[in-house]
Amino acid sequence: MTATLHLDRGALARIVRPRVDIARVARESGGGVGVLLITCPVTGKEFSTGIETDEQSLDLIPHTVARSLCPHCGDEHPWSKLDARLSEDGSVG
Ligand SMILES: [Zn+2]
Repeated sequence: MTATLHLDRGALARIVRPRVDIARVARESGGGVGVLLITCPVTGKEFSTGIETDEQSLDLIPHTVARSLCPHCGDEHPWSKLDARLSEDGSVG
């Protein structure tokens, strides 16, 4: 099964990847539940998608594209789990 990712290479290149292996951190910290954050491509600010998950569940999410309403610019941004960051304390930034 192949899912189409609606992002071009330029968009992917702009994604800031986490410096740490969040899977490893989750294991070491006991695998807490966090909220998925994505970055607004207009303002560069992070915001919450409102989706709470953990690292194990995130692995099970297919590479599909969701849309979330951005509180920073008021637009809807498409994102996939590759764009999202798991924030276990719910803080943004
Ligand atoms: Zn935005």
